[in-house]
Amino acid sequence: MNIIVCIKQVPDTTEVAIDPETGTLIREGVPSIINPFDENAIEEALQLVEKHGGKVTIITMGPPQAEEALRQALAMGADEAILICDKAFAGSDTLATSYALSRAIRKIGDFDLIICGKQAFDGDTAQVGPGLAEQLSIPQITYAIEVEVENKKLRVRRLLENAFEVVETRLPALITVVKQINEPRHASLRGVMKARKADIPVWTAEDVEADPLRCGLNGSPTNVVKVFSPQHEYKGEILEGEIQQVTQTLIQRLQEAKLL
Ligand SMILES: Cc1cc2nc3c(=O)[nH]c(=O)nc-3n(C[C@H](O)[C@H](O)[C@H](O)COP(=O)(O)OP(=O)(O)OC[C@H]3O[C@@H](n4cnc5c(N)ncnc54)[C@H](O)[C@@H]3O)c2cc1C
Repeated sequence: MNIIVCIKQVPDTTEVAIDPETGTLIREGVPSIINPFDENAIEEALQLVEKHGGKVTIITMGPPQAEEALRQALAMGADEAILICDKAFAGSDTLATSYALSRAIRKIGDFDLIICGKQAFDGDTAQVGPGLAEQLSIPQITYAIEVEVENKKLRVRRLLENAFEVVETRLPALITVVKQINEPRHASLRGVMKARKADIPVWTAEDVEADPLRCGLNGSPTNVVKVFSPQHEYKGEILEGEIQQVTQTLIQRLQEAKLL
């Protein structure tokens, strides 16, 4: 089984700074990690390959420093990694991101399964996986909590709000995984040594034959109109006095607020 895992490098913080001019994320100077759901995606791919044979290829679209996330994935045990990196991709929304990834995957060519995380820790849209499946015209199953592969068929248990759903499809297909699917392994020392020396190819927009009009800001119909932190106003009142009087006042206040 040839499995491609899409990972995103995300800031290791919830304090994401926004460029007020472009409405895009400022990542410089912020420590980064592999998106936590993507670690589950890597783990699932490694387990499937351990069971069925094949190889795991990791891809990410991001700035040059995203190479570090790829090395971490290689240290966990992935076979190959590719960085998709070009100024032309800067400012990509989810449509342009899934387009760029789809071009890289078409260049890789031979795959049975693509695994993405459920959503990214920072962007949080959960759109890239489904968008990618659409761009590649392959079936998609989201929120996977259990995956079985048999005779080129994929059976997935999906985690819904109050239920599970079991869905089957043919391969090749794309799944997105939830954190309950597995416990991501730690990198071994051997893995870290191997990852350090690994050659990670960098593919540009030209390398993946991407249409410049569908890349980066050109290919991003989503416009961030304004980015701001919501203001919270907490008004409190302390009721003082005898307990009976305080209770009466409290009941009165709750009735006025139509909470009783
Ligand atoms: C107008 C606009 C401009 C933006 N400009 C920028 C920008 O300049 N720089 C920037 O970094 N972000 C930018 N973003 C954010 C960017 O669109 C998203 O980070 C990106 O498209 C992924 O979306 P998401 O974070 O919601 O991922 P989700 O859809 O929540 O991610 C789901 C899964 O998709 C996969 N995935 C997501 N992103 C990648 C990736 N890059 N490579 C490989 N796999 C991936 C992972 O498996 C992930 O778990 C912009 C967003 C908008 C709307």
